[in-house]
Amino acid sequence: MNEHKLHDGTLYWPKTMSFFPTYPSLRERAMTQVAIIGGGMTGAICAATLAEAGIPAVLVEEKRVASASTAANTGLIQFSSDIMVSELADRIGEMDAVAFYAHCSKAVNDLGLLAAAIPQDGGYRSRSSLYCAASDADASKLRREYQMLRRHGLDADWGFPAGVGPAFKARYPAALVTHGDAEINPVRLANGLIAQAARCGVRVYEHTGVANVRKRGDWFVLACDGGEILARTVVRATGYLPGIEGAAESEPNLRRTFALATPPNSVPDEWNRDLMMWETARPYFYFRTTPDGRIVAGGLDEDMPDPSTGERALRERTDKLLAELGALFPGSRFEAEYAWCGAFGESPDDLPFIGEHPEMPGLFHALGYGGNGTVYGMLAASMLVAHLRGETHPLAGLLRPTQVRRTASGEPAVKKAFGV
Ligand SMILES: Cc1cc2nc3c(=O)[nH]c(=O)nc-3n(C[C@H](O)[C@H](O)[C@H](O)COP(=O)(O)OP(=O)(O)OC[C@H]3O[C@@H](n4cnc5c(N)ncnc54)[C@H](O)[C@@H]3O)c2cc1C
Repeated sequence: MNEHKLHDGTLYWPKTMSFFPTYPSLRERAMTQVAIIGGGMTGAICAATLAEAGIPAVLVEEKRVASASTAANTGLIQFSSDIMVSELADRIGEMDAVAFYAHCSKAVNDLGLLAAAIPQDGGYRSRSSLYCAASDADASKLRREYQMLRRHGLDADWGFPAGVGPAFKARYPAALVTHGDAEINPVRLANGLIAQAARCGVRVYEHTGVANVRKRGDWFVLACDGGEILARTVVRATGYLPGIEGAAESEPNLRRTFALATPPNSVPDEWNRDLMMWETARPYFYFRTTPDGRIVAGGLDEDMPDPSTGERALRERTDKLLAELGALFPGSRFEAEYAWCGAFGESPDDLPFIGEHPEMPGLFHALGYGGNGTVYGMLAASMLVAHLRGETHPLAGLLRPTQVRRTASGEPAVKKAFGV
């Protein structure tokens, strides 16, 4: 069992659940076409997508579904990544960068279709994003970004929309608005997708950790706590947790980040709740609202993998986030009803690790490192289905399934960070 902590403090989303569906642990041998390891948002999206495609699958989760990084997620679903499309174009060429952004935009939409197909309200609501330039230099970068987005048909407007108050304009020299984004309640949505997958025949097991994965002929054998699974394809949707023996490493650069939720009915009247806000500074400050009128805000990333901060440090960071909010809405006073810290993984090239492992045919990585993990989870599910159907997904040549970051002594960096 992985004992590594992915969050600390008081989380908001689990409090919005009146009932948590539960699943048995594995006590036998199960055979299936696809075994998904990990019951977070990525595993949930993969399970629901496979169920919809009629592909037999088993999902195993070593703790409770949607309780790891998914529970700390602030639920902003944006087609724009931590790296601007114009910056990505400088690195990998405009055609590939735009193809990546276009597929992320499609993924936001696909997630909306999945969310609409389940009876539970997973909080998926279409939103636009206000992207603010943190400096004059960033204003020119943002202008270039806007031009590239528009040139390729990605929906964006230049400037502050009506209703955005003077404090924003005093602080940020420029802004653009992207359309076609969304917000979710990650815990409700992941639980809803897994419940839907289970209704459609996906076998779901909780409290069932996969200790190792071995190849036996054409089958993968997954050794679990209470039994084993035989599968033709294995999907590694384990988030930021260290690898499983035999399932190959893909190491994120681990940091920690902070978030809070204000009490209900605390959104200032002047704010347009259809907007989510973020900025070009790195790390960035961001916020969104919830249906009951809370603000969920986050930022202040730190170069430490362990989210256990202690009460005092969490209070200090929470006060800083509240001060950021207060500066943008000088007429309002804010407090935090919930405040938490979460571990957060980034890939060295800002792209997710998705695809079949080159040295282990049949092992599919769905590791959406970066601030857009949910969108990458949806992208992974679409690429998985294409892979299982023998089709070549347009992003298959661009996204790599793996990259191990090693320390100077040659040790995988994430193992060192976690001390395992
Ligand atoms: C504060 C914060 C804010 C964030 N905000 C956003 C946001 O606004 N938008 C966004 O898209 N992303 C955001 N993220 C990132 C997001 O949380 C993650 O990208 C996403 O939740 C990852 O989902 P996942 O399913 O890949 O991982 P997880 O939710 O961590 O799920 C992985 C699961 O795999 C299980 N597992 C691991 N190893 C095994 C094993 N050996 N056997 C069985 N099960 C195993 C774990 O127990 C876990 O439940 C945020 C993250 C943090 C910390």
